[in-house]
Amino acid sequence: MVAVTTSLQTVPPESGRPFDDARAAICWANERFAGGVCVTASFGDATVAHVAHSAVPGIQITLLDTGYLFAETEWFADHLTDRFGLNVRVVRPVPDLERDIWATDTDACCAARKVEPLQRALRGATAWVTGLRRADSPSRRTTPLVHNDLMRSVVKVNPLAGWTDTDVAEYAAEHDLPEHPLTDRGYSSIGCWPCTKPASDRSGRWADSSKTECGLHL
Ligand code: SF4
Repeated sequence: MVAVTTSLQTVPPESGRPFDDARAAICWANERFAGGVCVTASFGDATVAHVAHSAVPGIQITLLDTGYLFAETEWFADHLTDRFGLNVRVVRPVPDLERDIWATDTDACCAARKVEPLQRALRGATAWVTGLRRADSPSRRTTPLVHNDLMRSVVKVNPLAGWTDTDVAEYAAEHDLPEHPLTDRGYSSIGCWPCTKPASDRSGRWADSSKTECGLHL
């Protein structure tokens, strides 16, 4: 992984208008870290993929496919790709992993199926753009717009950090974005099928345990 030596003295401008600020943050990252930006999207909704593609048409968007994505998520990613002309790269775990580790050790499963593939996806990257929002969950309430991710040696840019649920809904309406097929079945936060239950917030993830994060976002 490339060591990040840049300072953040020149950070993206903030106007207070969330949609403009999100695009500005991605444009800033694309210029500041030219050729070194990795955008990840889980395709639980269309927001970050659409914002990134609108800000920088054709920017590569990485989907980490754990092997346990809902079939509806795979369909949704394909649908958005066709409809908006997204440039999607799929990164998968290494082959021949033991199956169903999630049933006994979700941390080990996430490490093998999410964290290790992310490390490969970030190889050569100097900036990582995510769809994290402060409104996602209490553990994300202090998510900054941009910061140094020292563990991964990248500058982490969270263009949607300040977006509320209302902002997401308004952006979707403004751009006529489709919903993930599971949304109207009660899923508001969508990850892997073994570890996601219908819920009005992220509490549906690892609902039967105290786990709240998979290890991607430290
Ligand atoms: S969310 Fe569940 S199935 Fe997906 S990688 Fe983590 S433990 Fe495995």
